[in-house]
Formats: sequence, C-alpha cells, structure tokens
Amino acid sequence: MNLYSLSLSDIAKKIKLKEVLIKEVLDSVYARIDEVEPKVDAYITLTKEYAYKRAQELQEKLDNGENIGVLGGVPIAIKDNICTKDIKTTCASRMLENFIPPYDATVIKKLEENGAIIIGKTNMDEFAMGSSTETSYFKKTKNPWDLEKVPGGSSGGSAACVASDMAFAALGSDTGGSIRQPASYCSVIGLKPTYGLVSRYGLVAFASSLDQIGPFTKTVEDAAIMLNVITGHDNMDTTSLDIDYEDYTKALVNSVDKIRIGIDKNFTKDGVAEDVKNAYNNSLELLQKLGANIVEVDLSYAKYSLATYYIIATAEASSNLGRYDGIRYGHRAKEFSDLIDLYKKSRTEGFGDEVKRRIMLGTYVLSSGYYDAYYKRAQQVRTLIINEFKKAFDNCDVILIPTAPNTAFKFGAKAENPLEMYLEDIYTVPVNIAGLPGISIPAGFDKDAMPIGLQIIANAFDEQKMLQVAYTFEQNTDFHSKKPEIK
Ligand code: GLN
Repeated sequence: MNLYSLSLSDIAKKIKLKEVLIKEVLDSVYARIDEVEPKVDAYITLTKEYAYKRAQELQEKLDNGENIGVLGGVPIAIKDNICTKDIKTTCASRMLENFIPPYDATVIKKLEENGAIIIGKTNMDEFAMGSSTETSYFKKTKNPWDLEKVPGGSSGGSAACVASDMAFAALGSDTGGSIRQPASYCSVIGLKPTYGLVSRYGLVAFASSLDQIGPFTKTVEDAAIMLNVITGHDNMDTTSLDIDYEDYTKALVNSVDKIRIGIDKNFTKDGVAEDVKNAYNNSLELLQKLGANIVEVDLSYAKYSLATYYIIATAEASSNLGRYDGIRYGHRAKEFSDLIDLYKKSRTEGFGDEVKRRIMLGTYVLSSGYYDAYYKRAQQVRTLIINEFKKAFDNCDVILIPTAPNTAFKFGAKAENPLEMYLEDIYTVPVNIAGLPGISIPAGFDKDAMPIGLQIIANAFDEQKMLQVAYTFEQNTDFHSKKPEIK
C-alpha cells in the first residue's frame, strides 16, 4: 500500500513509531500530486520548498525525543481563502492574485503548533461564492470520480485533493455548505463546526455571521482529531467562544443505541434525486437497525433558508468586499483618471461575474428604500429558523437530511442559471443560518457511480453526538473506503 493512501491517524502513528521518515511521507504525497494533479487541478499553489524544510525540522525534533504534536509531520492542504504567512492567498480571485499575507490565520498557527505540514493552497470558487468551483479565476477543479464533473464548491479543491489522496486532510470554509456539499460530491468527510467554535481570524471574510472553518478528512476519526486541533477561544475573533473545549475523539463510540434521530419527510419530499433519496432511506434504516429511534420533527421554516441566505450572505459580502478598492491591497487598475475611476476600474477588473452579482444584490437589499423589505425581514425569518431548530432538538439528538439534493453535475450544467446552482445548497444552508454543526459522510453511489453524502446535524456545541452517529455509520458501512480511479 502507498503511504499517501493512508488515513491521517495511521500516517501520524507511523511517523511517531519511526516506521517512516517524514520526508518519505512528503515524497509519497508529492509523487501522488505529480501523478494526478494534472488531471484534477485541485491546487492553486504548492509549497514544496517550505514543506521539505519543515519536514526536516520536525524530523530532527522527533529524533531528539521531542513531542511533535498529534499532527506531527502530516501533510495538510489549505483552502486559498485562509491566510498563510509568506504564502500566496488568492481567494481564487484576480483581485488577490498576488496577495501574500504578512500573518497566519489562527487555524494555521494551531495546525503548525501541532506539527502539521502545509503542502499547498487549494482551489475554490472566487471568494467562496459558488457550489461548483467553476468561478475560480485560475482553473477548474475536476471531480476525481468523473473528470467531466464538478467537485462541488466552494471548497472544491480541498474536497478533491483529499478524495484523490493528494493530502491527508484539508481545511475549507463553510458559509452555506461549502465544506459539506463538496465533501458529499467527492465522497470524503466534511465537517462544519458550531458557529464560534473555530476562530475566523485570518479567514478572508465572505459573510461573517455564517462563515466557519472546518476539516475535510478520509475518516470520521480524522475529523475529530482535526477538530481538536483547530477549536479553541481566540482573542482575535470577537465571535470566538470562551467555553470548555472537549476532546472530540471521546465521541468515537460505535453505538447509536437509543439515539433519537429527527427527520422531516416534507423537507426531503421534492427535488431530491431518486438515488439520493434511496441512499438516505437506506441510511435511516441502517441506523434504526443499530438501535437509533426515529422521531418526526418539523422543519417547515427551513425551506425559506435559501431565500434568507441569499439576502443575509450577499448583504454581508457587499460590505466585506468594500475593502478591495485598489488602494490598500489587491488588484489596482493601471490606468485611471481620478479616485472614483480607480475604484471602479480596479473592482471591475478584479472581480468575476458571480462576485459582482453578489455585491449588487447585497447593496440593493441594504439600500435605504429596501432595507426593511428585505434585510430586516430576512433577519426575522432567521430567528424563526433558529427557534424551529431549537424546538426540534428538544425531541431529538441529531437531525438527518441529505447533504445535497443531487450528485455532482457536469461542468457548465448550472453555470448559466445561478438560481439552479443556489438550489444545491437547500439542505446545507439552514445549518449556517442557525449556527449549528453539520457533517457530511459518504453514504452511497448513484447509478453513474457518483458519490452520495449523508448529512448529520446536531444542536449547537453537540459535535460529540454528531461525531458518534457519523462514526457508527462509518464503522457499519464501507462507502468511505472506496477510492476513485482517476482516469
Ligand atoms: N454555495 C453557497 C454560496 O455560493 C455557499 C458558499 C459557501 O459556503 N462558502 O454562497
């Protein structure tokens, strides 16, 4: 077996036991990248030189008997909207094509303190706006399961690189589903933590009240390990929570005995592909067989999440993206007549169509004549959705819904019609609106052999229950162990 195909926890063990050198692990992963990256296009930047230097430092420490951390020597990829000191961070935008952050995001510091090696920055939809990674300024990432199909988005590069063994784990960001939906399309684990659990310091802001960073991994155990590393209070993020952080690996118990699983049949009745529905029903049946109890919950307001999201997210985005004025940093137009012209030209050249669409929408819903009709109402509906989930969790431990209504689609299939693209997030967006944790795990394949994801949602801060159900499902199925043949 090749080193690159092992799980994060297995490779970390091998390194600690000195069965392999860290350099050998890096060699294996970069050889894999040489082999499949020309087909998959998951990375924007590779940080080879930096990685080998770090490998050497870590190996010396290990050989001196020092503790190199739970991620000691493990190669990890990072979505290109998370700031990495001295390493280009582009957000897949022309606007930030040459941006080199002078500081590390908090999650990067935490990864490095725990011994991780950053091997590259991954492709994404421009500024994390999209569900297919097609809006990247640089390239289109392919789905490793079918190179003619999208990997999902916006963290498509992170999902594809883990699915094709080009990293042992990756970080992504999830504002409305950007970790879970690509995880589902690529058959890997994708976890979006409770809002406030993981510091957003150094994550390029899209919609600040919704954004969270989370891991992509090959196993649920690896997701728990990554979560342990990246969570924790951070003074640099005012929405970071000062609570007692738990050891998430304690949740890795193979049992769902008496766990109450909430479902809402109405929510999943329409618009879901037949094969996705079947996989969902089979998953429910399996969990029931393993001892879980199914209870009906009411998620009637959740169907308004998408409309709510596209008001709140665009409003926040229009404000967050105001900083790219061509003056302080980012793309600057070469020729301009005055200050206003400089702003206009720099933004016109620097942003792609989808980003411009969001800025226009957001500016509109915040404008004085329409604020009450759109933005204020959306915030009110948000409260209804939050309360609805609260009520549901009075009667259940986790809620199960598909991650996405469909499996991965062909390039261009939804590019012409943004509304159709937005619909892919119908099951992931409610979780961000309510600030809850959600995980997508591999749960089957459709008739074209494309992966199907299952989403487990828990109450705020109940990552433990979510991981327990995910782990039990994984231990009793073998979908997660299937690998794509990249051809
Ligand atoms: N697809 C959604 C959007 O385009 C979600 C993106 C995300 O989670 N970053 O807004």
